[in-house]
Amino acid sequence: MKTGPNAPRRLSIFGSTGSIGVNTLDVVTQLGGREAFEVVAISGNANVALLAEQAKACGAELAVTADEASYGALKDALSGTGIEVAAGREALIEAGARDADVVMAAIVGTAGLEPTLAAARRGADIALANKECLVSAGELFVKAVAEGGGQLIPVDSEHSAIFQSLEDGQHHAIERIVLTASGGPFRTWTREQMAGVTADVARAHPNWSMGLKISIGSASMFNKALEMIEAKHLFNLRPDQVEVIVHPQSVIHSMVGYVDGSVLAQLGCPDMRTAIGYALTYPNRSKLDVERLDFAKLARLDFEAPDEVRFPALRLARTALERGGLQGAVMNAAEEIAFHAFCDGRIGFLEMADIAERVMDDMTGYKAAATMEDVFAADGEARRRAGEIIAQKEMAA
Ligand code: NAD
Ligand code: MG
Repeated sequence: MKTGPNAPRRLSIFGSTGSIGVNTLDVVTQLGGREAFEVVAISGNANVALLAEQAKACGAELAVTADEASYGALKDALSGTGIEVAAGREALIEAGARDADVVMAAIVGTAGLEPTLAAARRGADIALANKECLVSAGELFVKAVAEGGGQLIPVDSEHSAIFQSLEDGQHHAIERIVLTASGGPFRTWTREQMAGVTADVARAHPNWSMGLKISIGSASMFNKALEMIEAKHLFNLRPDQVEVIVHPQSVIHSMVGYVDGSVLAQLGCPDMRTAIGYALTYPNRSKLDVERLDFAKLARLDFEAPDEVRFPALRLARTALERGGLQGAVMNAAEEIAFHAFCDGRIGFLEMADIAERVMDDMTGYKAAATMEDVFAADGEARRRAGEIIAQKEMAA
């Protein structure tokens, strides 16, 4: 292993086979490949062929599949390469504890929390795409990263934009942050139109190409709801400082408003590689081959107030922020279960928010988490209750 200022950074990528993971490997190549990054561990789920191909291409030390049943297939695919192979949840957590300098947390859902926490506790810098970690564990997650000694660098485009628009030592002067939202494919639809849509229709995002959960979350605006809570924890804000504005072109990625009336924004084409590159090289910037903004071609930028009646997820996020405690974890877990039920055709599009709201209202008694165990308990209970409501709905139908 080389050491010194120009030594490659040791990088692990959790969720390498997903949309963010694939973009991360592209950025790694663009930034110099093995000259710039020594890949420690990569992980995926059942998509073993891609995981094995990635491990060989980037020269990873370890490839982990979260899916225990895929162990044999991954082992076969990597036999003779010298790349270590492991499977299952525990293996993923152990991989998180390996000595990487920076970890790309790009697993989808709460499944990413434990491996990311393991990396944070060991002191890695965390490039955080997996927003569910923050929504669910909030301050405890931020504290774990700080106590480990690493930095928490957002990858979510809105939060990267805010992070890039912050001024050193001026936290006290932040009046508000403004998260931009594309409005998704149903921005102009009525609730009646949305009621009957299938997951295939809902996943077609107008501007961004992303994984299934975040695409559906963009259509329901649950993704923005998660991002409101993510922002509160990342930037240590009061609930009333978090605003959302619909901006259909997705060019302004988000903004910070200061007490003197100034608003700083970060702009770019909708391409996650800019935020990924920034997180991997922070505080430096490196050249990336992504499309440049052409302002003349763009001609205009539009804005609209968000509609919390057609998109109740935004109202639920506001409620979760105001109630505090474990409501973020509860909203996130109930929504994850409702999302899977919607994708399986068991419930309608609009029922996702109904279910999250009912579970949140039922679980207001869960006060702020003192430990991660409290988070896992609330998460489990919210999943159980959401599952019960879905089963009742099916019986009634
Ligand atoms: P994706 O579905 O494309 O990929 C998810 C990754 O997680 C895959 O590698 C998959 O194998 C892995 N995975 C899935 N279930 C798992 C489990 N139970 N255990 C372990 N690994 C599992 O998702 P994505 O769009 O890349 O999103 C990843 C995260 O990044 C999400 O939290 C999302 O909200 C966030 N994010 C994504 C984008 C984007 O453009 N895709 C933008 C901002 C934030
Ligand atoms: Mg985002």
